[in-house]
Amino acid sequence: MPHRQRPTTGKNKRMYIVTVPIAAVGLLLTFFIGKRIRRRAKRKRLLAAPFPDEWRQIAEKNVPLYGRLPDSLKEQLHGLVHVFMAEKNFEGCGGLEITDEIRVTIAVQASMLLLNRRTNHFPKLHTILVYPHTYVARAVSSDGVVTIDGQSIRLGESWQNGPVVLAWDSVTGGTSNVTDARNVVLHEFAHQLDQEDGVADGAPTLERRSSYAAWARVLSKEYEALQRKNRKHRRAVMSKYGSTNPAEFFAVATETFFEKPKQMKRKHPELYDELRNYFKLDPVEWL
Ligand SMILES: [Zn+2]
Repeated sequence: MPHRQRPTTGKNKRMYIVTVPIAAVGLLLTFFIGKRIRRRAKRKRLLAAPFPDEWRQIAEKNVPLYGRLPDSLKEQLHGLVHVFMAEKNFEGCGGLEITDEIRVTIAVQASMLLLNRRTNHFPKLHTILVYPHTYVARAVSSDGVVTIDGQSIRLGESWQNGPVVLAWDSVTGGTSNVTDARNVVLHEFAHQLDQEDGVADGAPTLERRSSYAAWARVLSKEYEALQRKNRKHRRAVMSKYGSTNPAEFFAVATETFFEKPKQMKRKHPELYDELRNYFKLDPVEWL
């Protein structure tokens, strides 16, 4: 039987126009709030989940920095690794098959950057692409006048609102020597922290507004000092790659903070203090 609709009066129309959007917004809000509540509950479960023995063995074998951590931080790290493993998607590229060894080795190091801090677990990152070897990427750079389009050898990269890309041979090469301050995972995930506020400028989101002034003063001063040392070919605690731009400076400083804390604290006490305040960790104490 054909359904006959009562003609809609002007008043009914207005009510329809008002109530339908309100209902839609209400439904959307319920959906998003529900999703957040479910995600929070799931994270709570994951943070308290026992750490599998196989994962512990991988961390002990592949991440010497893990062995330095005090037990209380290890416990905390295990929970963060669980969240990372559950929420991030790993994809093998160039024929690489993703194994638990690859996932755990990367997750353990990335999660170290989240210890002791209020965190949303790298919220903009969904996928980690892993290549077997150092890979060649098409590089485009522009100074506003000339665009250089060429090939660039990459150990890893971090995209804002996009993936982190890592070369597995750089990951294993970087972690095996804990004192060389070269660690591509710490480096790329430091970029993720820096990019969380929408700008890769070497200033991640700090807890207090009042902290930005000291951060800018100390990091600018140290960045310029590294640039000067680099120009004069003088040795530095930090890799000269840190003098490329402020974003690279923060990423390289993070590697050095975790892998060469003693040297950094001795030679660059102010920089060490800024990073200690930000990461809420004191790696010198782990030595
Ligand atoms: Zn970088």
